[in-house]
Amino acid sequence: MLCVGCGSSTVVLDNLCKQCFTTAIHRRVRKWAKQHDLFQPKEPISLPKGNDLEAVATRAIFEHAIKTPHIISEEGKQIEAWSLDHELEERLAAVLRSKQRSSGTRLLTFVTRQEMRAYCKAHNLKFSEPAEDSAESKLVKQLCRDDPSLKFGLLKSFEVFS
Ligand SMILES: [Zn+2]
Repeated sequence: MLCVGCGSSTVVLDNLCKQCFTTAIHRRVRKWAKQHDLFQPKEPISLPKGNDLEAVATRAIFEHAIKTPHIISEEGKQIEAWSLDHELEERLAAVLRSKQRSSGTRLLTFVTRQEMRAYCKAHNLKFSEPAEDSAESKLVKQLCRDDPSLKFGLLKSFEVFS
């Protein structure tokens, strides 16, 4: 299989090679951060700790995708370990169990766990798998089993109705 971006023969995910996939993720995350005005220049930022997939991906992608000058500080604005899957699970819990949604600064709301795995593997980052045993995570898996890209549409539909 060849990369649809550059024709290279080492495909990582979605018909993209490591370089094209990485660029696409960084671009998407930068756009998200800009649209939601997440970071101000020189704003103190606190990144998630630990070796969970979402925390590792958040740290790595923040470091490489966000060009705004920032200060990393324990007391800074807390960036949550987050993913598109996480977002969908929380939104479903809000609908199905009237569970209140938490608020926080989320950089990777538009990146799936599958993409994070591919990103971490491509860049040799070690991570541990998150526990995905909630009813909502099973539901998301079931709904998007045949086509993981449905997750993007699902999130967009939540955005429309909320
Ligand atoms: Zn490529």
